[in-house]
Amino acid sequence: MTSIQQRIDQVRQQIHAAETCYQRAPGSVALLAVSKTWPLEDILAAARAGQACFGENYVQEAVAKIDACPIELEWHFVGHIQSNKSRDIASRFDWVHSIDRLKLARRLSEQRPDPLAPLNICLQVNISGEASKSGLRPDEVLTLAGPISELPRLRLRGLMAIPAPMADFAGQRAMFRQVRELQDRLIAQGLALDTLSMGMSDDLEAAIAEGATLVRIGTAIFGARDYAKIQRGA
Ligand SMILES: *Cc1c(COP(=O)(O)O)cnc(C)c1O
Repeated sequence: MTSIQQRIDQVRQQIHAAETCYQRAPGSVALLAVSKTWPLEDILAAARAGQACFGENYVQEAVAKIDACPIELEWHFVGHIQSNKSRDIASRFDWVHSIDRLKLARRLSEQRPDPLAPLNICLQVNISGEASKSGLRPDEVLTLAGPISELPRLRLRGLMAIPAPMADFAGQRAMFRQVRELQDRLIAQGLALDTLSMGMSDDLEAAIAEGATLVRIGTAIFGARDYAKIQRGA
């Protein structure tokens, strides 16, 4: 067994333990393996351990891996999106977690190729309120979710958040709780949402405690990243 396979098993056990501890239904939290900076061979090692969904942050790096990948996998874009890269994202990915403006959502809907199923999306919410972080403010989420949910080639699935790192568990939970409460308000407005994309290697338990349905895990599966190794492609 490779160490990637062992670490995937450990993360699955961690997810399962948190589901049990916080009275979440078994299997209600999906694992997205965030493979940015890691080569295709590591993705394939994870796939051999049964992992089918992978998250990427950099378009050129991701497209190079998707094109070279010999097996069918589900690809999620989780990084910041430059408008001039939206066409590659609309045509290569199954999910986008990082929608942070209406114009971008419209573009992705227009650019989603007809033969493909609608692109699954999450709105990224900036819950910690730092000016430097991308994501919509909660009030913007409340006004934009309706119009974005009506775009024909997108399917709005829920919210994504990357709260500022916090050491204490109660503080982490408080941040994630705000995301869930925002999602609950959207559902009360009549939107059919089923995805809360929150929790990374250092805070997945708190996210699961507060209702995450998908955790995005990089370091705990693949190890510490070396950003010099991003495969930027042509
Ligand atoms: C890199 C990244 C992750 C994974 O973070 P780890 O701390 O390595 O688990 C999750 N979500 C997003 C949006 C990322 O950019």
